Parts: sequence; structure tokens; C-alpha cells
Amino acid sequence: MIKLHDKYFKPFISGKEIDDAIQRLATEIAKDIGDEIPVFVGILNGSFMVVSDFVKKYPKPCEVTFIKLASYEGVKSTEDIQRLIGLTQDLTGRTVVILEDIIDTGNTLHEVHRIFKNEAVKSLKIATLFYKPEAYKKDFKLHYVGIEIPNKFIVGYGLDYNGLGRNLTDIYKIKETQHMTNLVLFGPPGAGKGTQADFLKEKYNLVHISTGDVFRFNIKNETALGMLAKSYMDKGELVPDQVTIDMLNAEVEKNADANGFIFDGFPRTNAQADALDKLMDSKDSQINAMIALEVEDEILVERLLSRGKTSGRADDADESIIRNRIAEYYSKTAILKDFYSEQKKYFGVNGVGSIEEITERLSAVIDNL
Ligand code: AMP
Repeated sequence: MIKLHDKYFKPFISGKEIDDAIQRLATEIAKDIGDEIPVFVGILNGSFMVVSDFVKKYPKPCEVTFIKLASYEGVKSTEDIQRLIGLTQDLTGRTVVILEDIIDTGNTLHEVHRIFKNEAVKSLKIATLFYKPEAYKKDFKLHYVGIEIPNKFIVGYGLDYNGLGRNLTDIYKIKETQHMTNLVLFGPPGAGKGTQADFLKEKYNLVHISTGDVFRFNIKNETALGMLAKSYMDKGELVPDQVTIDMLNAEVEKNADANGFIFDGFPRTNAQADALDKLMDSKDSQINAMIALEVEDEILVERLLSRGKTSGRADDADESIIRNRIAEYYSKTAILKDFYSEQKKYFGVNGVGSIEEITERLSAVIDNL
């Protein structure tokens, strides 16, 4: 990630991908133009990189010139009105190809057409390295497009943010700060994570994802995922990481507009914690806290056995399976305390007391974040 002025940007399109796109453009345009000598017109400032690389790849003789965008002086307008200057060459009868770094709204293109209207060129073609279809509001034909991109602010390879970033060889995309609150609710089986998550999701308007619940839902519906998970769950063992991670990613994607998430029962291994970090990063977000409910083992066994009488969960009915789940927690999951402690995101909360008391303890931590 890089910082330009006050904003952060993350890698988006590599120099290699840009190079390949420019090669494709050069080959395609040369094929169409044939043996005529075209005039390539770059629009400054942004296009200096693409024009330079493009003409180096152009396999036949060609001419190159530039025009520049300049703000109208003395015009008071909320719109950023700009005009093109610098067209001094006689282009009568010539085949002209405009080379743009990026076309978004198409306002610059409007200007291009306006100034070329009076030039008696033979043909006027538009080529652009990047194109934002969602932002484009004009009807002018784009003859050659390198790479289509979403309507996001990008920098690098000639494109700037307030003057900076033009010299970068890769393209970076702005990091949008979504104000999500993402919590990992942590603790051994029977600590009360599910009960507390039900209160917290209402209070903080978060989406609760319990991996155990999702697996049980799949088992009930006899899906392939359910059948696979069942063999592990019945023994109190963990479902393999990749299966669990894929499922979690899909659950998060289903709730793309969420204010944030309460992850309950996930992550349970280092690989899952790494995967969760990556997933949050892809959303320009992060895990804010791991809040752990701390409860002694013997109380856990007691709680789970009593829950087993009504929950219908096979893994709650048998004391040896319960003890195996707790053992799995200490051997595989408890290490995650260190993972989040190192990032100063671990908060331990006493998980013994009334439901309301515990909710209050958890809320105090969340309100303080
Ligand atoms: P829980 O409802 O959280 O106690 O989970 C019940 C069972 O589902 C666990 O004992 C595991 O077999 C499986 N499970 C739930 N979450 C995970 C996870 N993050 N990784 C692996 N297995 C999981």
C-alpha cells in the first residue's frame, strides 16, 4: 500500500498487464491503419507514459504530438471546465489517433471532438489505455480500449492524485474507508458466544456469522458441504481449513452491504486468521477486536451437557466428545490469542455470570474501541 497526500492506495494493475495491453493496442491499430503514416496525439499531462510506451511498440513509421488540457482562466463555475491547447500542426488529410490514458466521463473527449471539428482530418480515431464504462456519459465512439476498469479512482502510470503518483509504474486503486466494525467473538465451546452474539448483533447492527451454525444448517439440508463437515463435527474435530475458509468467504459475500460482522467460531486456526485478514483487506476493512469469553473447563462441560438435553446437538450429548472439543480449542484455537494480542486487539472478558452482566461487559469493550 502507498500513501499520497492524505489518501491510501493499493496495488491494482501491474506494469506487466499495462505493457501487454499497450502491445495489443499497438498491434491492432497498426493492422487497421496499414501503410499510412498516422499522427498520434497524446493528451497531457496524463498520457505521457502511455504515448511513450505505445510509440515504442508501434511497428511502423508514425508521427507523435501532444495537446494539453488547460483550465479556462477567469471562468467562475463549479464545473471544472477545461479546454485543449497546443494544436499547431496542420492535420489536413491525416489519419489521427488520439491516445488517452483514461476515459471516464468523456468530458475531455467532448473537447477533442470540438477542436477537431474544424480540422479537415481524413479520420479521427480514439484509443485509450483505461476506460471506465460505468462513468462514461457520452456517445462518442471509442475505437480502441486497453483495459476496462470499475469506476474507482486510480493513480500511477501518468495518472495523479493532486500532482503525485504519475511516476509509478503500476496502477493503484484508492482505498475506500468503509466504517465497518468487525468483531471476533472468541472462547471455548460453551462459553456463550452464540447467546451473546444474538444480543450484540441487534445492539450494534452487525451480521452474525457462526460457522458452527452454517455447518449445522448444511447438515440438516444434506448438502455436500454438510456431509463433509458432519464426519469431523461428530467427533468434535475441526473441519479442514480450506473448506471452512471457502464457506466463510461465501457467507461474507452474501452480506456485502453489512455494517460489520460478528464472527463466532471463526477463526479457529492460524490459517483461518490469515484468511480472515485477507478477506477484510479485500473489503478495505479489518478486524477491530477479538473479544474472548473466559470460562473454566468444568463449567463448560456442565453447560454443554445441560444444553445437550434440549439442543439436539450430537456433539453436546457425550462428555468425551465435549472434552475433545475443549481439547481441540486449547491445542489449535487458543494460540489465536497471541495472534490478536500482538496486534493489540485481544480483549478477555469474564464469561461467568448472568447473560445481562456478560452482555454489559462485552458492550463496554466494544464501546471503547
Ligand atoms: P461450534 O458451534 O462453534 O461449537 O462448532 C461446532 C463444530 O463445527 C466444531 O466442533 C467443528 O467441528 C465445526 N466448526 C465450526 N467452526 C469451525 C471452524 N472455524 N473451523 C473448523 N471447524 C469448525
